[in-house]
Amino acid sequence: MFKTTEEFKTEFVDKLQTLFGQSLDDSSPKDKYIALASLIRDHISKRWYQTNKQYRYSGEKQVYYFSMEFLLGKLLVNNLFNLGIKDICRQGLAEMGISLEELEALEPDAGLGNGGLGRLAACFLDSLAALQFPGHGCGIRYRHGLFEQKIINGYQVELPDNWLEDGYVWEVRKADRAVTVKFGGNVRMETHEGQCIFYHENYEPVRAVPYDVPVVGYNCETVNTLRLWSAEADEFDFSSFSKGDYLKAVEYKYNVEATTQVLYPDDNYQEGRILRLKQQYFFVAAGIASIVRRYMKNHCEAYNSITKFHEYISIHINDTHPALAIPELMRVFIDEEGLSWEEAWHITVNTVSYTNHTILPEAMEKWPIDMFKCLLPRIYMIVEEINKRYCAALWQRYPGEWEKIRRMAIIADGYVHMAHLAVVGSHSVNGVAKIHSEILKKQVMANFHEFYPYRFNNKTNGVTHRRWLANANPQLAALITDTIGFSWLAHPTDLTNLHKYAGDAVFQEKIAQVKRHNKEVLAKYIKDHNGITVDVDSIFDVHVKRIHAYKRQTLNVLHIMDLYNRLKESPDLDIAPRTFIFGGKAAPGYHLAKRTIKLITTLAGMVNKDPLVKNKIKIVFLENYSVSLAELIIPAADVSEQISTASKEASGTGNMKFMMNGAVTICTLDGANIEMRDEVGAENIIVFGLTADEVIRYYTQGGYNVLDLYHSDKRIKMLVDQLTNGFFPVGFDEFDAIYHSLIRTNDEYFVLKDFGTYISAQNRINEFYKNQSSWRKLSINNIAFSGRFSTDRTISEYAIGIWKIKPLVVRVGGRQYSSPACLLDD
Ligand SMILES: *Cc1c(COP(=O)(O)O)cnc(C)c1O
Repeated sequence: MFKTTEEFKTEFVDKLQTLFGQSLDDSSPKDKYIALASLIRDHISKRWYQTNKQYRYSGEKQVYYFSMEFLLGKLLVNNLFNLGIKDICRQGLAEMGISLEELEALEPDAGLGNGGLGRLAACFLDSLAALQFPGHGCGIRYRHGLFEQKIINGYQVELPDNWLEDGYVWEVRKADRAVTVKFGGNVRMETHEGQCIFYHENYEPVRAVPYDVPVVGYNCETVNTLRLWSAEADEFDFSSFSKGDYLKAVEYKYNVEATTQVLYPDDNYQEGRILRLKQQYFFVAAGIASIVRRYMKNHCEAYNSITKFHEYISIHINDTHPALAIPELMRVFIDEEGLSWEEAWHITVNTVSYTNHTILPEAMEKWPIDMFKCLLPRIYMIVEEINKRYCAALWQRYPGEWEKIRRMAIIADGYVHMAHLAVVGSHSVNGVAKIHSEILKKQVMANFHEFYPYRFNNKTNGVTHRRWLANANPQLAALITDTIGFSWLAHPTDLTNLHKYAGDAVFQEKIAQVKRHNKEVLAKYIKDHNGITVDVDSIFDVHVKRIHAYKRQTLNVLHIMDLYNRLKESPDLDIAPRTFIFGGKAAPGYHLAKRTIKLITTLAGMVNKDPLVKNKIKIVFLENYSVSLAELIIPAADVSEQISTASKEASGTGNMKFMMNGAVTICTLDGANIEMRDEVGAENIIVFGLTADEVIRYYTQGGYNVLDLYHSDKRIKMLVDQLTNGFFPVGFDEFDAIYHSLIRTNDEYFVLKDFGTYISAQNRINEFYKNQSSWRKLSINNIAFSGRFSTDRTISEYAIGIWKIKPLVVRVGGRQYSSPACLLDD
């Protein structure tokens, strides 16, 4: 790796010439970006090769994190940072008149995920590599990631995300590692010497081609692999077709490649489309085939037969989307490796572990039996057998309790229930925050917890503080390092050393300057993109995340409407000026969420130009919320809105990113908010609303009637009525869906129930902000106690508690290994 800016500049100019035959002056910004990224990739390659080699020879256990989503964002600057060359590169580029940030802007966001779940997977990869764990990702290379959101006339419009248009520098296509995945067809059974043999026939073959993306570890030489699978038509099948029928051949190719064309844009919701099931089996089967193939090759000395697979391989499934890993492993062990059912089951259960991400009923995956059977006939047979044996065990334990057994079965009521399959087929089931894990054990999966008490555990989510603090907020990172040294980058809990500066006026002033700078940057972006001038001295009150009823953007809107009503009544109302910033995508088929966006943009249109308001409040909806936009918004936030209905947000991770960046959180006692309060102390966080216990009690025992509230609380009645009485300059029925979600469904998400305490909490924010010194103290304490929410902590807990893996130090140019022939190729 280059050690000086001079070395860097020479290599960079060389790269421009060899790639494009161009000098610095002739090349476009895009060429420069590609040259820089390619140069970095070349340097990564040596470490990547060495990492793979050492993993192979060490014989240590490795973990594969299977996830349908990896929301990576951009990689350039994070790679430079982890390699320790960010400053050299920025300086070297600057000397040539090039801005690193401008080059990075040219990288497409890899938006291969919807939100929190996909971003968690990406943060996990960063921490796995930083902690030098042998751990890899396995997912799908969607041709189109999450749609691009445009706001037109206040409405969301979806455009396809064409992230691969100009190629993707970080991926390496590995055509020689392609595997075939089989769909449809039928299964023929034969008996040989008393053993059943299964032949899958007349299937549709889909070629799965892996594209590998390097995952660079911070301050070490580890480079792990994210393997993303792409569906391609088999050249052979294509040509055999095309002799006879060219059009059929093209159609065939089109159909096969449809498998990985697009990411389903639903967050916390399952649509139940057959193509989605196909995607799930596609990447799971391909991933397992490549793991088994490598295992057999690396363990060819026979001292490790397939029966020890689980001692060397851990497969983690991120939610139930990859739960087909369970029957697929069974299929490989039984049909391909000739193991007995009992042997195969022992290995499978001990290989697989599962994370539950949600208790929302509409997000629970279940597949109609007919669809499942038709697409995956052999896998269905195996699931049936798993279910049969499992129900027999249930019957032993709960004789005669038919109803209980039906509710716990994997196959019941015409569906295959994926969460049940995931619990039965893995040795560990974890929730993603303490409260969520408790709700799983005591409520949603109480039956399963009773039957498998030792499987359940908690692993509170995190975010990588290197992306979300060090790189997203370089000025804050520099200030922290100046104050307490740089150890926090590898040991995030060292951030607690900031605590003693919380009351220090000089440090407070520096913190305030950094925040102000970040707010100015965001204000400029808002001006450029929305044409709205915002006051950087106002409170930046930020609510960014997917739009969803349970996340209660509506509650935030009702507060703003109330404030607006109050301001119109008394324009000199004593409030700290506020800028309300929203961002987030609605699933294209989610009507209520889309109308919520329209409500926000409509209110914004009224408030922002109303002279009575005297610029005391502004509302901004920033379109196309994504990782890159989050990196711009979060460092500029004063207030973080984490106001989900208690019990509904399993953990949240946005909450942690804001905390790290010194925003003050206004929140319900939901998900990881509770643990954030425990870390930072109740005096440093603004809590309101029903508790999860109260919410669950209302659901199970009743006792809440929204109409009582509506008729007894004048303010609530006025606000609700304003949705449909012509207050907004839109059609009378424009916000019917929102009105219904409050009134007709008895306020399912307790928006109106929590309204009063939310307003009081917002008033507390207002009072705090007036005393800038006390506000800065809150802000500093939040940064200081955010260290626990680094994925470094989360991943260490998974490694020790679930995967049983150890770090492995990678050294380029270190020890050389003799190489038995079978180990040469990976
Ligand atoms: C972190 C993140 C999320 C998750 O946010 P929550 O507030 O936890 O829902 C969603 N989208 C993007 C782009 C993110 O970076």
